[in-house]
Amino acid sequence: MPATVIDGKGLAARLREQTKGEVESFTSSTGVQPHLVVVLVGEDPASQVYVRNKERACKAAGMQSTLHRLPNETTTEELLTLIDQLNNDAGVHGILVQLPLPKQIDEQSILDSVSPLKDVDAFHPENVGRIVQGRPRFLPCTPAGCMQLIGEVCESTAGMHAVVLGRSEIVGKPMGLLLMQRGADATVTICHSRTRDLPALTKQADILIAAIGKANFVTADMVKPGAIVIDVGINRVDDKLVGDVEYGPVAEVAGAITPVPGGVGPMTIANLLKNTLAAARIQQNA
Ligand code: NDP
Repeated sequence: MPATVIDGKGLAARLREQTKGEVESFTSSTGVQPHLVVVLVGEDPASQVYVRNKERACKAAGMQSTLHRLPNETTTEELLTLIDQLNNDAGVHGILVQLPLPKQIDEQSILDSVSPLKDVDAFHPENVGRIVQGRPRFLPCTPAGCMQLIGEVCESTAGMHAVVLGRSEIVGKPMGLLLMQRGADATVTICHSRTRDLPALTKQADILIAAIGKANFVTADMVKPGAIVIDVGINRVDDKLVGDVEYGPVAEVAGAITPVPGGVGPMTIANLLKNTLAAARIQQNA
């Protein structure tokens, strides 16, 4: 039987609607409109699209959104100065620095410089540490979206074997942390480019998360029948977007699967909005 298709677009729309309602009541009771500032350095075409989508989504949810565009030659010091201003601006609740940054910029020191209270991407070491300890301030947007998608087809992940392909700071590593935290209680295996005999591991997965950035990498013979397959990958092939999972054949084996596009991608933005509202609440109560 073909897999259930998990509709990320629909779920994200519901979450965004819910956030919009919460923004409305927050603003009417406090007089404060949550405000996200996005910083874009350079001309990367994919980043321009992502940033535009984030701005639009903020406005649709009743939040204020400001885009700072900086030239490609911007230095680390110049960017640090801007972030310092935003950190100290009480009218700014969330700060998002669009990645990747141009090569001359020290990405780590930039991400470390964002106030942890305004770090809606949850990249700051203090926020990562809180996730590790199971007491998150903000949930990382993409991994949180994957958990919500799993929740659509699975009541409890307790005791399930989750295999995560990829160990990046943005997706793979925090994904593993969310799956293993108390409440989710999955048993987690994290794989990377040095992992031996990957198919032997993926075939054991009740939940398989693919986040490696290689088009159609996960094939049907790597998937356990009935598994939940979450495809984080976004790869451009002949002007089409495809995931890390070979969708058609894998959908014949899996129990549930996310499409690309329309799976994880929309969830990332929905969670960014949620985090921006949470940041405004935290700062209102500080
Ligand atoms: P990175 O390039 O930072 O990380 C890729 C990871 O995959 C690394 O840990 C790497 O291992 C591992 N890897 C690469 N090749 C293999 C292989 N052959 N076998 C096993 N592991 C391998 O990517 P990101 O985590 O940032 O992104 C992953 C994908 O998700 C991309 O397609 C990206 O576009 C997409 N993405 C989608 C988002 C969304 O909203 N839908 C948000 C963020 C990302 P090693 O560490 O050893 O190098």
